[in-house]
Amino acid sequence: PSAMREVMVQAPNIGWDDIGGLDDAQMRLKEGVELPLKDPDAFRRIGIRPAKGFLLYGPPGTGKTLLAKAVAREAQANFIATKSSDLLSKWYGESEQQIARLFARARQVAPTVIFIDELDSLVPARGNGMGEPQVTERVVNTILAEMDGLEELQSVVVIGATNRPTLVDPALLRPGRFDELIYVPVPDKEGRRRILKIHTGKMPLADDVDLDSLAERTERFTGADLEDLVRRAGLFALRESLKVEKIDQGHFEKALLETRASVTPE
Ligand code: ATP
Repeated sequence: PSAMREVMVQAPNIGWDDIGGLDDAQMRLKEGVELPLKDPDAFRRIGIRPAKGFLLYGPPGTGKTLLAKAVAREAQANFIATKSSDLLSKWYGESEQQIARLFARARQVAPTVIFIDELDSLVPARGNGMGEPQVTERVVNTILAEMDGLEELQSVVVIGATNRPTLVDPALLRPGRFDELIYVPVPDKEGRRRILKIHTGKMPLADDVDLDSLAERTERFTGADLEDLVRRAGLFALRESLKVEKIDQGHFEKALLETRASVTPE
């Protein structure tokens, strides 16, 4: 009953244009990931060391996965996504093997961006429901050894993501590991307007649809919440008639009544 998983290599189809309201994070990823992958010689010439690991942190549904995919695509790199829970196996040695396969495959198809979601669930001290603190510790150590073994500029970059940065094992955050921390915030009003614009991009909108006003009234909504709002507006329109041609403000108002921000003020 092995839990070994196929390592899936993707060529992501998300671009910067598909992401709203995360200009700072975008800029830092461009500099930190895209530049060194695209032009390693420039870094060599200047004699500076690009980071191997980045940690994206922020509430769920704010676009961390999107950012990792977009930077991979813009850098013309392959993309391998995994999450910590996929790397934890109770079978002795299997986690280590899975991680070794992950990095081996990444090197093979380099340039590659490896994305590891749920980095906080690798917390040996607290345990994590997987029962065995030794397993998480071995997983952390194996990931660290793989990252230490990555030659600088060998075109494999690791991007981790977490909703709970304070729980991430400090060993993962030391220099040469996930040493670039990038905050991925809940969008502000302008960010929300841009995200609404992106997600309504393929919709036939009636003239009365007021994205500004919707952005104004969706404080604390994440990108994922806004996507949900747009989808519900579409469903309301369809519910009225399958022949509906335009989504109007009324549909959005109804959707707004039943969509809530997933992030609380705390
Ligand atoms: P989690 O922490 O749950 O893994 P995440 O931060 O990785 O969440 P994503 O998976 O990137 O979130 O986002 C989920 C969906 O929400 C995306 O597929 C996208 O449709 C929408 N979304 C989230 N943030 C944005 C954004 N900034 N711009 C456009 N769409 C967004």
